[in-house]
Amino acid sequence: MSRINAWAAHRAGGPLERYEYDPGPLQADEVEITVEHCGICHSDLSMRDNEWAMTAYPFVPGHEAIGRVAALGEHAKGLEVGQRVGLGWTASSCMHCRRCLSGEQHLCASAQGTIVGRHGAFADRVRAHWAWVLPIPEPLDAAAGGPLLCGGVTVFAPLLVFGVKPTDRVGVVGIGGLGHMALMFANAWGCEVTAFTSSASKRQEALELGAHHVVSSRDAQAMQAIAGTLDFIIDTVNVPLDWNALLATLAPKGRLHVVGAVLEPIPVPAMTLIMGQRSVSGSPTGSPSAIDTMLDFAARHGIAPQVEHFPMDKVNDAMERLASGKARYRVVLDA
Ligand code: NAP
Ligand code: ZN
Repeated sequence: MSRINAWAAHRAGGPLERYEYDPGPLQADEVEITVEHCGICHSDLSMRDNEWAMTAYPFVPGHEAIGRVAALGEHAKGLEVGQRVGLGWTASSCMHCRRCLSGEQHLCASAQGTIVGRHGAFADRVRAHWAWVLPIPEPLDAAAGGPLLCGGVTVFAPLLVFGVKPTDRVGVVGIGGLGHMALMFANAWGCEVTAFTSSASKRQEALELGAHHVVSSRDAQAMQAIAGTLDFIIDTVNVPLDWNALLATLAPKGRLHVVGAVLEPIPVPAMTLIMGQRSVSGSPTGSPSAIDTMLDFAARHGIAPQVEHFPMDKVNDAMERLASGKARYRVVLDA
């Protein structure tokens, strides 16, 4: 196998520079993908900056890849060379622990992130275990589809896992990469959807993406006006919010589900949980079957991330675009 041409940061917060590496022999259960497009997730920024103290340098970001199968290890199953596929946050799991055998491979204790101790998809090629390389349904637009592989499944899987019903009222907090897909999914799921945004300029767009109502996530009074109404809230924001005001919008038996990787602890008053039997929870992306179900649902409902394209060699401008908060709503790199 030839060397892989990638983009890597060499220190926390450093720029991405051209970086070539030898991937070694392809493992028997691995797939090599020729990258065509790769979304940029906020987690790529957090990992570049070592915010979670688990980044290894040189660090090659990229975990929302769409491309074609370039090579298959001798034990790789269910894929063909040339087939269009996607790869998200997780690149491998052990496949023999209880979690893996029960279809929750994303919860495997030895699951490996595509960009955690491995080199990601800001590159001409990327590798992963065959089970985490998902065929992309024909109707999906490959150029816009990458963000579904991480951001998409992260907001879709909770609808499956927690049995969210079409009669439920769902709140989506933070209308960024994850949040804008959550609005589309929750709307297609049949729910009444409330968008919480800190950006006045996103109000109208949130309605067009599928929200029925829009509330300011920085306005405790506006939140007070909908107190006790929401059955399920998905929070995609990576900074602290007015948690008391947000929790107060939950209906009895309501759940605040956190997927945004806020670094500061979330204070949760016991009485808020006890009175009204409320819950607070979190989850990491989703299993291969959740990704597959999500891709199928997205194709059936014509759900496509709203993206801005940058060529791969403008990757630092693209990262800056996401960091500035101006992206509408996901930045995608084109190989
Ligand atoms: P993003 O595109 O940057 O969106 C984050 C959104 O949060 C922004 O668009 C903004 O929405 C809101 N926000 C940002 N700063 C804010 C502030 N100061 N006050 C209030 N709201 C603010 O990021 P993303 O790619 O969607 O990722 C979101 C988070 O999810 C990140 O922490 C990422 O690491 C995490 N993540 C987790 C998983 C998982 O498996 N759990 C998977 C992927 C990503 P408004 O303008 O609407 O307020
Ligand atoms: Zn991600």
